[in-house]
Amino acid sequence: MMVLEISKNYDLSKLSTLRVKAKSDFFVKPSNLDELVEAFEFIKENNIDFNVLGAGSNILLSSRAIPGMIICTNEINFINKINDTDFEVGAGVRMPRLCANVTKESLTGAEWMEGIPGSVGGGIVMNAGAHGTEMRENIKSVKVFNIETLALEEWSNADFAFAYRSSKIDPKKSIIYSAIFHFEPGTKEVIREKVLHNNSARTTNQPVKSFTCGCTFKNPELPDNQRVSAGLIIQELGLKGLKEGDFVVSELHGNFIENQGEGSSQEFCALMKKVQKEAYEKRGIKLKPEVQMMGEFSDEEKDLWGN
Ligand SMILES: Cc1cc2nc3c(=O)[nH]c(=O)nc-3n(C[C@H](O)[C@H](O)[C@H](O)COP(=O)(O)OP(=O)(O)OC[C@H]3O[C@@H](n4cnc5c(N)ncnc54)[C@H](O)[C@@H]3O)c2cc1C
Repeated sequence: MMVLEISKNYDLSKLSTLRVKAKSDFFVKPSNLDELVEAFEFIKENNIDFNVLGAGSNILLSSRAIPGMIICTNEINFINKINDTDFEVGAGVRMPRLCANVTKESLTGAEWMEGIPGSVGGGIVMNAGAHGTEMRENIKSVKVFNIETLALEEWSNADFAFAYRSSKIDPKKSIIYSAIFHFEPGTKEVIREKVLHNNSARTTNQPVKSFTCGCTFKNPELPDNQRVSAGLIIQELGLKGLKEGDFVVSELHGNFIENQGEGSSQEFCALMKKVQKEAYEKRGIKLKPEVQMMGEFSDEEKDLWGN
């Protein structure tokens, strides 16, 4: 008997931090393994496509169409203490919540997560990072749902081949269910101070109150293997304030694009294209999107990602 609620023709507009207009044919929020299995039984029986959505903070949802089912991990939201330093954390747990939990226990290593609106699952896929630290540094192992076998398997940290804002996991084949994190003991006051500092750095330098997807482009790697700030390049090109429809390149941070109304993915892509073109023509730099796309995009739009 089915217990999982399956919604149809679902409005996704509020499920991404960019707030683009988007809908999916089907939508589910499984809260445990049985419900995840149920979702995939439905997908297989009906032979439909699917996509996994975490906190939607690094995603451009298509306003054209998102065929098939969206599996949202918001309800896989548990933190289980294993011992004094290790925790099993559900994929849907938001990074600031994990940071707060770990800080409460006087453990260090999660301070960088403060203020990042992503989920642990999305953070692992993207190998999210800030202030010189990355997700990979505190992960011992991950429980991954294999969509072929409909069972959990355990991946080690090395299995992910983590690199700058990327990992080996393919969300079309495997879904992160939970991860085991290890944190080192520290001094509560020092940890708190770091968290506060990270928070205020973010609110000063980023348009945290606007609808954005965080950094639009990855920091490009120059021939000497150094990464340069995409935001600085965009600022130097004088592109802050550049507009397309309801989207504008943030005046506060060049790599953030703000949705000031009801922008569509088509408009967002058009603005990304203008920025990419300027950076290439004036600086010879090909900016590659950090934001991921989900759903239907035109061939020209896919070109922005180099697909
Ligand atoms: C204001 C703001 C500030 C930000 N600051 C930072 C920052 O400092 N550093 C940084 O790295 N990022 C930053 N981001 C971007 C974003 O928060 C991170 O990339 C985050 O890791 C994305 O997680 P998510 O849950 O939102 O993923 P989503 O956007 O929902 O999804 C991203 C990708 O991961 C896949 N995915 C999500 N969950 C799972 C899962 N459980 N299993 C398999 N695949 C999954 C999706 O299919 C998609 O391909 C910021 C964003 C905003 C809006």
